[in-house]
Amino acid sequence: MNTHYGIYGGQYIAETLMPTLKELERQYFLAKEDPTFQAELDDLLKHYVGRESPLYHAKRLSEFCGGAQIYLKREDLNHTGAHKVNNTLGQVLLARRMGCKRLIAETGAGMHGVATATMAALFGMPCEVFMGAVDVERQAPNVERMECLGTTVRSITEGSATLKDAMNAAIREWTATAPETFYVIGTVAGPYPYPMMVKDFQAVIGHEARRQCLEQTGKLPEEVIACVGGGSNAMGIFAGFENDPSVRLTGVEAGGEGVATGNHAASINGGQVGILHGAKTYLLQRPDGQVTPTYSVSAGLDYPGVGPEHAYWADLGKAHYEVINDDEAIDAFDTLCRLEGIIPALESSHAVAQALKSAPLRAKSDVIIVNLSGRGDKDMENIREWKKQHR
Ligand SMILES: *Cc1c(COP(=O)(O)O)cnc(C)c1O
Repeated sequence: MNTHYGIYGGQYIAETLMPTLKELERQYFLAKEDPTFQAELDDLLKHYVGRESPLYHAKRLSEFCGGAQIYLKREDLNHTGAHKVNNTLGQVLLARRMGCKRLIAETGAGMHGVATATMAALFGMPCEVFMGAVDVERQAPNVERMECLGTTVRSITEGSATLKDAMNAAIREWTATAPETFYVIGTVAGPYPYPMMVKDFQAVIGHEARRQCLEQTGKLPEEVIACVGGGSNAMGIFAGFENDPSVRLTGVEAGGEGVATGNHAASINGGQVGILHGAKTYLLQRPDGQVTPTYSVSAGLDYPGVGPEHAYWADLGKAHYEVINDDEAIDAFDTLCRLEGIIPALESSHAVAQALKSAPLRAKSDVIIVNLSGRGDKDMENIREWKKQHR
């Protein structure tokens, strides 16, 4: 099996974990071909997560732009309020099938931690989530949610005490306790086969969106736009259209205060090739290879790298990666709230902001699908603080 995407991806991981990754790959392919596994996944996606999610024609937003018709893929309406649950459900079903006794995960903003804790509760499995001490402080409501759901949050004080340190701690724990412990990765990153598995579990977004678009508009969209942290919601919706060359695929990275300031989270547009989280990819690093801290008003876009397939697609030009800064994301957040009565996550607001730039340049008959990856209730405090400092 090819573990790479061009020069990207691979398995840059301790030798002792190689048998675990081999077994994971083998078991994943068996599960994928097993109708009972797929039937249980589909049943829970429908009755527990609440799929399918609507594809909604945002008429007032489209009118405001005066160009293309904007459609929102409503992943914000999923149980737990974002797309992450599609992936954690799939991985935890696989963990249970493999006979793993315990789950671990790392989390930055806490959303992947909550999505993993949710599945741990649903399947009655013990779960520990590694989180940087700084993030534990900043994201207290998500720590409470995880604890409510019965998960133990392990506060990591090493290094900058943020996501990259939590990632290192989780990988150390996994190395020490696999195969009894299943490591639930939150985006299309990590060593192979994780980028492939997470893409497959999130591809439900793109497959639904393609069918819904054909039903509602009678044609394919001209453009599909999604925000990119690690890249799972983007890869999930892109997966539905990757064999449709007429559809422009646009990923949106978090520009923070601007790529030129150095305070950003734009790994493709402002990073270099290196090794992160067991894979070769674009990431934010110093010349000596140390991972540098990311910055964005949106905590969920703080992954210091990007999934290896995105790195490959960026080089190939198969998808295009733009940058949206904090102020543009906040404006897009306000616009969507006021015009459509939908409060988007700050992450998703980056994708909305890109649509606000693209739509006016397009014909009225053009269709843009925006992946609305999550809801924004979690961001209210954050936005108030940002506005107090900047406006
Ligand atoms: C975590 C998160 C993201 C970023 O993660 P990806 O893997 O890039 O999708 C985007 N939107 C929301 C709502 C999130 O919670």
